Amino acid sequence: MVYKIPGVGELELKTLILDLNGTLTVKGEIPDGVKQRLTRLKELGYRILFFTGNTRNNEDEIASVLGIDWILAENGITKRDEALKLDPDTCVSIGNGLIDLELMKVVKLRIVTLQAEGVHVQTLLNSDIIIPSIVDALDLLIDSSTLVATLRK
Ligand SMILES: [Mg+2]
Repeated sequence: MVYKIPGVGELELKTLILDLNGTLTVKGEIPDGVKQRLTRLKELGYRILFFTGNTRNNEDEIASVLGIDWILAENGITKRDEALKLDPDTCVSIGNGLIDLELMKVVKLRIVTLQAEGVHVQTLLNSDIIIPSIVDALDLLIDSSTLVATLRK
């Protein structure tokens, strides 16, 4: 998807990289409305996957329910290295923890969610947008006018 950002330029995003715990799920549960929004983003052309350190051992079930892929990434360096394989200049990442920090340094657009599990301050300081929830974050990518309003100069 291409977003035209006044004063900034064109932002072309092809891949959405999600963190799992505390981002895509909150306390182990997928928030209402996430699945429909991911489906919409796929229709808009996004490739969607999540990176996880295998904390809860429920990745396959979540990936199946949501119809997205996942990659095992057990620490922040692995997350960064996996992102580097995905043309990071066209990636948007959504995360919340310190494990997402190195990844945030290499992708094009960085979004952090607060939700019930919080956001690490170092990761927050390396992000472009902080937003309350994963549903709000996905809406921002779906409704280009809201993303443009946040990013324009
Ligand atoms: Mg997390």
